[in-house]
Amino acid sequence: MSTHTVNATQAHSESMFDAVLARLDVAAKLMNLSDEVLQVLKNPSKQVKVSLPIMMDNGKIQVFEGYRTVHSTHLGPSKGGIRYAMDVNADEVMALAAWMSFKCAVANLPYGGAKGGIKCDPRTMSVGELERLSRAYAVSMKDVFGVNRDIPAPDMGTSGREMAWILDEFNKINGEDSPGVITGKPIAIGGSLGRDAATGRGVMVNALAALKKMGLLPTEVTAVVQGFGNVGSHAARLLSEKGIKIVGIGDHTASFYNEKGIDIKEALEYAAKNNRVLKGFTGATEIKHEDLLISKCDVLVPAALQNVITEENAGKIQAKLIVEGANGPTTPEADPILNDKKIICVPDILANSGGVTVSYFEWVQNKAGYYWTEEEVNTRHDLKMEIAFEAVWHNASSFKTGMRIAAYITALQKIEQGVKLKGAY
Ligand code: NAD
Repeated sequence: MSTHTVNATQAHSESMFDAVLARLDVAAKLMNLSDEVLQVLKNPSKQVKVSLPIMMDNGKIQVFEGYRTVHSTHLGPSKGGIRYAMDVNADEVMALAAWMSFKCAVANLPYGGAKGGIKCDPRTMSVGELERLSRAYAVSMKDVFGVNRDIPAPDMGTSGREMAWILDEFNKINGEDSPGVITGKPIAIGGSLGRDAATGRGVMVNALAALKKMGLLPTEVTAVVQGFGNVGSHAARLLSEKGIKIVGIGDHTASFYNEKGIDIKEALEYAAKNNRVLKGFTGATEIKHEDLLISKCDVLVPAALQNVITEENAGKIQAKLIVEGANGPTTPEADPILNDKKIICVPDILANSGGVTVSYFEWVQNKAGYYWTEEEVNTRHDLKMEIAFEAVWHNASSFKTGMRIAAYITALQKIEQGVKLKGAY
């Protein structure tokens, strides 16, 4: 296993990190952020790339790329998920790490931001291969992770299972049990009740808060949800439980539409029995993937991938409200098109911050060694989300801007204090 540090200032063109910087610049100008603070935030504080040689089931060694970027630690230890996907790369991890800094600040959590990932296709790997890969990654990141240093969590392609392996490896290295080093763990080993559904729950709380501001009742509106994994499936379920009619769903295998409404319980049961995918579901008409986001609905929840709302399809979106469950689903070029159409967009760094909020609760419970009921977790979560939504809504109105830039401003107002109070060498 080899470790080297990537140059934190290397240039990126057409990159996801550029998309972060584009929004950061707009927000910084509007709020008059000092240039010094802006420079600090434009440069992630640490980037680590590792190579992970893994013995595959066929007896051959395959080398995987692993990443971890710490963007900032001004408000506390860094926090952010670990993603297993084929498009993981240094630029993407850097963008996601920066978003975590802003997300934690918006949600009022005492954390900086980080992100990690391994370039792999977990769907084609055996459980044994995934376990060896996760353990190798944990060993290679032993000096990066720490209860009060850098705390990972699940993201795309990972779940409590991977968190348990990584925790076990970290514990072996350190000779003690440190459940707070990682969140999103299974309940039996220090996970928090409510964590699994938390990101979807945050999407639901944000959607309801926005609908209220728009003067719309949940029972009067329809929604389309792209992605039926952790975020999308819980978001669809919770939105439908609040009376919103879900007319469209989709995952990487198939997309569906039914103007009469889709029975989400039925879709969940179908996916549970069908290797967690929707292909073959009969409760709605199968449509083309590209038609899902532009189909008729009031609320659109992209909860799968980044860069799916672009300048090509933004003009065709029919929803009045977009609630970003995924990280980075909207490109900077699509933003002005959505603004012109007066579509309200609750941005990722606010809309999907429910997951990291309950991850924070998990960390607090691990540190205290005392565990809360699911009701306590959900009540505290909903309150934190409502406060964050109000702060961003308020900034949108006082700075006369959309919710995305307002969310950045809300985050920057806090991070700026951290940078200035802690100072520099
Ligand atoms: P997941 O792996 O559980 O699910 C991803 C879903 O997206 C799956 O249903 C998959 O089929 C679908 N998908 C993949 N490619 C697709 C395509 N081309 N078209 C349509 N659907 C496609 O991942 P997740 O944890 O639900 O994460 C989804 C998004 O939410 C990511 O952007 C992630 O960064 C973000 N997010 C996740 C969390 C969390 O707590 N899990 C928290 C914050 C943000």
